[in-house]
Amino acid sequence: MTDTALVAVLLATVAGALAGGAWAAGRRKARERQRPLFRSSPHYTEGLHLLATGQLEAASHELGKVLRQHPDAVEVQQVASHLYREVGKVERAIEIHRDLLAHKDLTRSERAHALASLGTDYRKAGFLDRAAQAYAEALQVDPRNLHALAGQQKLHEEQRQWREAYEIQTRLVRMRKSGDGLVLGFLQVEMGREALAAGRRDAAEEAFLTALSLDRRVFPAHLGLAELWMDRDPRRAVHLLEDAVAAVPERAYLAFPALQKAYAGAGEPSRFSALCERLVSQDPRDWRARLALARQLREGGAAAEALGLLLRAVEANPHVLLVHLEVWRTLRALGTLGPEEQRYVATVEASAVYVDPHICTVCRYRTDDMLWRCPHCHEWNTVVEERVSPAAGTR
Ligand SMILES: [Zn+2]
Repeated sequence: MTDTALVAVLLATVAGALAGGAWAAGRRKARERQRPLFRSSPHYTEGLHLLATGQLEAASHELGKVLRQHPDAVEVQQVASHLYREVGKVERAIEIHRDLLAHKDLTRSERAHALASLGTDYRKAGFLDRAAQAYAEALQVDPRNLHALAGQQKLHEEQRQWREAYEIQTRLVRMRKSGDGLVLGFLQVEMGREALAAGRRDAAEEAFLTALSLDRRVFPAHLGLAELWMDRDPRRAVHLLEDAVAAVPERAYLAFPALQKAYAGAGEPSRFSALCERLVSQDPRDWRARLALARQLREGGAAAEALGLLLRAVEANPHVLLVHLEVWRTLRALGTLGPEEQRYVATVEASAVYVDPHICTVCRYRTDDMLWRCPHCHEWNTVVEERVSPAAGTR
């Protein structure tokens, strides 16, 4: 969860607590003309202010002070423990949730919420058995507790129990009435891959097809199907991969190696260049398609044409080392390099480590590989190539 999203959730929690509190206070007012004492604490106001400005660590510190003065303030316990977990103080979060659960007068939904939160504390701390138990207890108290169900689903994903994760996700989609099939599709892909590894081709194919019927944007399902058909029927593999590129053009490069193989297998290797040309015309910043095309041109003896393509790729994506390297190789092919430059290119080729920066659009986690599931926020299909804009003044 991003900081902004987290703050929004926490503020919603606070607002809910305040609304509930306001209603309860309204009733009490007639009797006592009083409001909960913790709300008159300056630390409470300061804590909310810090929370609203996204300063989570400081907010947890202030709310911790409120709790020391008013250990029974349930809504402060709920929010503070969530904050402690988010800033990495999971032990403190666990402690507060245990204290909270010791209250006798919690409502059913407060108890379920506290148990589910405790489950998430344990999950973050790596105590998976205890997490599973806490989520199960939360669901005993309230079988429709979304937090506990979502936690159970993540717990299964973390243990690569794809079928169990899929079943819970199906219930979640139904309860949220969201109709979102993307996560279900990615879980089917994992089930398909497992089937493939166990030699069960039919089960794998069925899983990949189910994934695509849930959502056509599940790119690895297209890749999985193409792989199944690559040797037996390369034309069919071509068809499947072209479908994938049409469904998610920004992921096309992930299908390039398979596409080259499939076109070659189908006896039409030149169609790969045509595909790259189409991709470049659709997105001028698609340096991967330009690079693939330039390589084909250079290898086919059209190095001058390749150079033109690569220079445009440098303009659009100056940070990509692979493009620069390809420029040097092309210059070498054109015979324009002296011995010094040739030595330089050989050194770069031998020693440069190419990192392929990717970033999660949800939590900003950075990785050097393309991953279908973010290892930090555990969301699916949120990792994209990280692009650096050209320097100011260039086209
Ligand atoms: Zn993420």
